[in-house]
Amino acid sequence: MSEKKLLEEMNQVKLAIELIELGARLQVLESEVTLNRGRLVRLYKEVRGESPPKGLLPFSTDWFMTWMPNVHSSLFYSIYRRLHEDQGLERMTAFTKAYRLYNEHIESTDGEQVLGLTRAWTLLRFFESNMFQLSTCQSCQLEFVNHAHTPDDDYVCGICNPPSRAGKPGPAKKKSQTKSKLAKETKNH
Ligand SMILES: [Zn+2]
Repeated sequence: MSEKKLLEEMNQVKLAIELIELGARLQVLESEVTLNRGRLVRLYKEVRGESPPKGLLPFSTDWFMTWMPNVHSSLFYSIYRRLHEDQGLERMTAFTKAYRLYNEHIESTDGEQVLGLTRAWTLLRFFESNMFQLSTCQSCQLEFVNHAHTPDDDYVCGICNPPSRAGKPGPAKKKSQTKSKLAKETKNH
């Protein structure tokens, strides 16, 4: 084996271990690491002390559009983009680093880890296959995960416009209804 090849293989083993430690499923490893399935399974068992779980990866864009997952996905993806596009880190290096930074942020704010590694990877793949776009919130100016080809000139994010508040800003009639409803709720408290 040439030195270059040996080095390449060592890097692949390193990547596999890192991904397994972060919670990757076998299908993620098979897509991203150029080691054969048998070796990946053995590595998985060594790192986790158990066989990789069976079953298919979640494959739906809907989850990323629900409130909490959307906020977490947008945070993760904005970190990834900064590392990959602005700092020029290689795709998988940027991915694992972004995922670590996302987890550190969640831990430091005592939040719940909503975005598992497999979900984060699925998100990346959705962006790479142009199923998602980033839409800029007109209220807070941050970027959020959105379905591709969605008109987003007046996009408002889930934080600025949480689903529990009834009406979106719109016709005056709707607004006053929301106001009176809010007033009622405040009274009851
Ligand atoms: Zn916003």
